Amino acid sequence: MVCRVPGVDKPKQDSGRAFAEQILPVEELGGTEMTHYRIGILKGDDIGLEVVPVAVQVIKAAVKRYPSIFIDWSDLPIGYPSYVARGETLPEATLQVLYKLDGWILGPIGHMAYPKNDPKAVNPHPILRRQFDLVSNIRPTKSFASLPCLHQNVDLVIIRENNEGFQPDRNMYKGVGEFMPTPDMALSVRVITRRNSALVAKSAFELARQRNRQKKVTAVHKNTVFKLTCGLFIDTCREVAKEYGDIEFETLSVDTFAMHLVMRPQNYDVVVVTNMFGDILTDEAAGLVGGLGMAPGLCSGPNYAMAQATHGSAPDIAGKNIANPYAMVMSGQMMLSWLGNKKKDPDAIKAANDIQLAVERVLAELKAVTPDLGGKGSTSGMGDAICEALGKI
Ligand code: NAD
Repeated sequence: MVCRVPGVDKPKQDSGRAFAEQILPVEELGGTEMTHYRIGILKGDDIGLEVVPVAVQVIKAAVKRYPSIFIDWSDLPIGYPSYVARGETLPEATLQVLYKLDGWILGPIGHMAYPKNDPKAVNPHPILRRQFDLVSNIRPTKSFASLPCLHQNVDLVIIRENNEGFQPDRNMYKGVGEFMPTPDMALSVRVITRRNSALVAKSAFELARQRNRQKKVTAVHKNTVFKLTCGLFIDTCREVAKEYGDIEFETLSVDTFAMHLVMRPQNYDVVVVTNMFGDILTDEAAGLVGGLGMAPGLCSGPNYAMAQATHGSAPDIAGKNIANPYAMVMSGQMMLSWLGNKKKDPDAIKAANDIQLAVERVLAELKAVTPDLGGKGSTSGMGDAICEALGKI
C-alpha cells in the first residue's frame, strides 16, 4: 500500500500563497529552516479516547527524527466528553480553532448514543466534512501476509465523495435531504454535482499516478438506473480521465463491482465512487483484510485534511485497551503525508513513510497486535511497539 496522499484536491491558484504562509522564516523558529504544522487532536468518543492518543504518540515519535519538522498541537473538545463538560458536542470555539490549523485527527464519534432532540448534541463529523470542504474520503485497503485475511495481495484505495450523494445530513445548503410528506411516505434526495465529482476523480487519477502500481482508476456507478445523477458522475470522471492518458480508466456498475471486490480484489488499484455506495463498499473492503480496525481514512479538500478512520466508536470494546489502533495510526500517517506534499516538505513525507514501515514491521512480527487480529496485545502496547520499531528504521 502506498499511503502517500497528495495534496491533489488543492486548487493550483492558491498553492504558492499557502506554502509561503506556512513555511516560517528561519529566524522565527530559530536554527535551520523548519516547516511548521498546526495540527488538532479531537479524540471523539469511546475507543477514540484510546486510539487517537496512540496516533499522536506515533506521529510525535516519527517527526522527532526530523528536526526540521515543528508541530504545534491543539487538543480540542468534541463529542460526548465535550457535551458533558460544555453542553455541546461541537463547540463554536473548536470550529474557530480548526480554521487556523493545517489538519487534525478526529477520533470516531458515537453519535447514536447522543441525547435525541437536543440541538446541542449534533453529530460533528458530517458538519466538519462539509464546513471544511473535505470532498474526498480516501480509504485504503491492504492485506498483510501475517494476518488472517479473506484475500492476500490486496492493495487498493477507494476514494469516496464525502459531502453529497444520498447523505441527508450534509447534502443540502439548508434543511435536510430527507422528508415525510405524509406519515406513510418518506423521501430522500440524492445530490451529485459536477464540481465534487471532478474533485474526487482528480484525486483518484493523481493517486493512481503516484502509487505507480496498476495505474488504473475504476469509477463505480449505477447509471442504468440513476441516469442523471450517476450519469453526471461518470461523465465527469470520463472528462477528467482525458487529462490522464497514462492511467487506465474503467467503469463498473456498483452491483458488479461489489461482487468483484469480494472475489477478485487484487484487480483494483484506485476506485472512485459516490458517497453512499462508497460508504458501503469501504466497509466491505475492510472485511476482506481483517475488519474495521484495519481501515484507515483521510478526508481531504482544497485546504484541509482530517485523519478519520472508517470505524465507529466501538462502545462494545471501549475502555478495555484492546481496540486496534492501526486504522487511526495510518489515518494520521496519511494526514502527515498529505501535509508534507502540500508544503513540499520531504522530511514530513519521509516521516510518514517511516510510520508505514514501522507499522508493517509490527504487523509482520505479530507480537504486540490486538485481539481482533488474533493477538494478545493491547492498544497502548501496539502503539509502544510501533514507536519502538520507528527507532530501528
Ligand atoms: P463500529 O465501527 O463502532 O463497530 C463495529 C464492530 O467493529 C464492533 O464489533 C467493534 O468492536 C469493531 N471495531 C470497530 N473499530 C475497531 C477497532 N479499532 N479495533 C477493533 N475492533 C473494532 O460500528 P457501530 O457499532 O455500528 O457504531 C458504534 C458507534 O459509532 C455508533 O454511535 C455509530 O453511529 C458510530 N459510528 C461513527 C463513525 C465515525 O465516527 N466515522 C462511523 C461508524 C459508526
